[in-house]
Amino acid sequence: MAKASTTPMMEQYYEIKQQYPDAFLFYRVGDFYELFEDDAVKGAQILELTLTHRSNKSENPIPMAGVPHHAVDSYVNTLVEKGYKVAICEQLEDPRKAQGMVKRGIVQLVTPGTMMNGDPSESRDFNYLTSVVIRDKGFGLSYSDLSTGEVYATHLKKFTDVTNELLSLRTKEVVLDGLLGEQEKEFFQKANIVISEPIPLEGQHAEISYVGQNLTNNLEIAATKQLVIYLLSTQKRSLAHLQIAKSYEVSQYLQMSHTVQNNLELIASAKTGKKMGSLFWVIDHTHTAMGGRLLKQWIARPLINHDEIHYRQEMVQALLDNYFTRENIIDALKGVYDLERLTGRISFGNVNGRELLQLARSLNSVPDILQAMMDSDKEELIDFAKKIDPLTGVAELISSTIVSDPPITTTEGGLIQAGVDPQLDRYRDAMNNGKKWLADMESSEREKTGIDNLKVGYNKVFGYYIQVTNGNKDKVPLDRYTRKQTLTNAERYITPELKEHENLILEAQTKSTDLEHDIFVKLRDEIKQYIPALQNLGNQLAALDVYAGFASVAEENNYCRPSFQNEDRQIKIVAGRHPVVEKVLPAGSYIPNNLVMDDETDVYLITGPNMSGKSTYMRQFALIVIMAQIGCFVPADQASLPIFDQVFTRIGAADDLISGQSTFMVEMSEANDALQHATDHSLILFDEIGRGTATYDGMALAGAIVKYLHDKVGAKTLFATHYHELTGLEHSLAHLKNIHVGASEENGKLIFLHKILPGAADQSYGIHVAKLAGLPSAVLREANKLLKRLEAQGASELDEASQQLNLFMPVEDSAIEEKPASAVSEVKQNILDELKKIYLADKTPLE
Ligand code: ADP
Repeated sequence: MAKASTTPMMEQYYEIKQQYPDAFLFYRVGDFYELFEDDAVKGAQILELTLTHRSNKSENPIPMAGVPHHAVDSYVNTLVEKGYKVAICEQLEDPRKAQGMVKRGIVQLVTPGTMMNGDPSESRDFNYLTSVVIRDKGFGLSYSDLSTGEVYATHLKKFTDVTNELLSLRTKEVVLDGLLGEQEKEFFQKANIVISEPIPLEGQHAEISYVGQNLTNNLEIAATKQLVIYLLSTQKRSLAHLQIAKSYEVSQYLQMSHTVQNNLELIASAKTGKKMGSLFWVIDHTHTAMGGRLLKQWIARPLINHDEIHYRQEMVQALLDNYFTRENIIDALKGVYDLERLTGRISFGNVNGRELLQLARSLNSVPDILQAMMDSDKEELIDFAKKIDPLTGVAELISSTIVSDPPITTTEGGLIQAGVDPQLDRYRDAMNNGKKWLADMESSEREKTGIDNLKVGYNKVFGYYIQVTNGNKDKVPLDRYTRKQTLTNAERYITPELKEHENLILEAQTKSTDLEHDIFVKLRDEIKQYIPALQNLGNQLAALDVYAGFASVAEENNYCRPSFQNEDRQIKIVAGRHPVVEKVLPAGSYIPNNLVMDDETDVYLITGPNMSGKSTYMRQFALIVIMAQIGCFVPADQASLPIFDQVFTRIGAADDLISGQSTFMVEMSEANDALQHATDHSLILFDEIGRGTATYDGMALAGAIVKYLHDKVGAKTLFATHYHELTGLEHSLAHLKNIHVGASEENGKLIFLHKILPGAADQSYGIHVAKLAGLPSAVLREANKLLKRLEAQGASELDEASQQLNLFMPVEDSAIEEKPASAVSEVKQNILDELKKIYLADKTPLE
């Protein structure tokens, strides 16, 4: 890459750049980081920098753009957030002391999966780097958030399992050791996930064996090793905060695909992508960033082990019953900073004095928390408290070393207390004496010369000087003073004594700031050995924060504690509510509903007009199930549930943008997922399945799917449909029951009752809804006319049609395909044609 006539500096640049062809190279020159060549052209555009040129006069000027060193973080973040990598190249020696070219080298490669938010107190989000190894036996997958050092590992059979984990984790970067087919590549592209190759690493690294020590599966070991090596080789420093990897299997938790999590709006609203409007939004009453992050993890992985759920419930119950204990704990938690990220920064080496004080303050809150728990008479709380190590020694170490209001930097002094180090105190004395000498000199020189406004000052270029205004210039004793600088209205002078003291002062200053930095680093390294203990404490406090939050949420919203019985699969929810909808509706206006399914009932077929509340009812149930299995109390008066192993949904028409499939294709693949993988311990929600295609094959598919779920799967299923014909299935399917959402008609207007009632809905309210949506009255009149005619023809004909469609009885495969039109009367066809026009193909009227 090097050009014919380059300077030594550019030669050095090209040599380094060559090793990082796919990263922006930020090359440190003095107070700036410079970008050159293509990096400069592209970087100037993305970062809105001025593009200049180096060696402007030569034939091939080199494009160049720079950013000031103190602002570099925000520029790096901008690039990395856009999916680029940035290699930071520093001067590795003091330019003033260097002989010839200053030595430079890459100190860190920042990538999308290793980017850390600058302010540890700010972010409640994870940024996971994932590592995947591809072997004959399957896939190993391991992931970590570099800022907290957590590591998890699992092994998976199919590539779709891998993509599901990647999407659920919202990972931005995957280190991948094998080749991919076109289809897989397309997935990564559409999901906006950067693929990185593993980077080889030389030498022995303690982190690799430390992190992997508890793993037994070879795929997990390989993936985790690859992950740690990538972290070490990009960050180029030891990473003492990496935690021992925890092995997990997806089947150890309630399984939900990432689509299900999105559909149910567990973490973010589907419309806005924001927290507001999600389950997380309602139940997050945590007071620490760690608690908020842990809750997110819990929501994504609800438990299936009864004892574990029970333990969480007991903790919540104890805190719910003890208001004052809870309030005291919450008050103390408010003073706890993000211990996990602070320890990450200690290990990473970018912690500053203020953050160490945050750590000390956090630790100082712990005794209050322990006191509150010990004072409660609850065994669970006392046991929990007994396991906590408050690490008071660490807090003392920090508070006795760092001043109470330290600066942001750790290299410019002013952060270590007096009395910590005698040598530092001596340097400071020398500085103070020197400064006193200057003050004395100023007054004695004023006296000697008779210049009243003579001043001693300092600047970086000339050091200390004596300043005299122009009006007093003739009084200057030029035998003693040497002129150094001329300003518009003053002259600056130096004297040999002044320079002598300047040397003493500056030397003491440099030595003292250097020594302060050394003391700081020593302190930091001393705290490093407590990192695992600090992380452990962080985890305990995070869990306590979530428990206390659950107790507050339960109290505030009148939630009840669900009970579980796993043998029979009965469900009994009395006066259940949708946790989010109830929050956004005016207080008291949400209509509670029961859901009771005895052991003999597996499928509820739900009918009712559009906008009546079918979908809300189904989602409400799924959310209650998930809340219950994370240990949270639930929005109901009473809830008794089985423990579910998986949740499947086909809800709404949210297009799956990532797979880029058509709506109907998405609908069918989600349905297929449930048909293939659900067990009799699963929960299935199907909302208007089949609506994505023409009416008859849609209805036929919906009917066949219900029948299959009923006969073969046996999962608890809520199946909402606008195919009224399907309600006839109740006669032939023993474990299926019809329910409907009540609505009534008053003066030609539709009143939604939002009340779930037994049996099938008796009338289609489509035309009323169309009226509410404001369709032209001519269309509504015509639809009403057609409807009357249909009703006149009698329901018997519909029944006949259903029979002929044969949704309910065994049928030869070809029957449905071959003659759907003949299966219904001409009248009905007319109506359907008409309705199709009104409904604009497959849209709902309100859409
Ligand atoms: P459907 O699925 O039948 O078309 P939705 O479940 O989308 O209807 O409900 C439509 C609207 O009705 C919701 O946005 C909500 O505002 C309201 N709603 C639903 N269920 C209830 C309820 N139980 N109590 C009060 N309002 C409800």
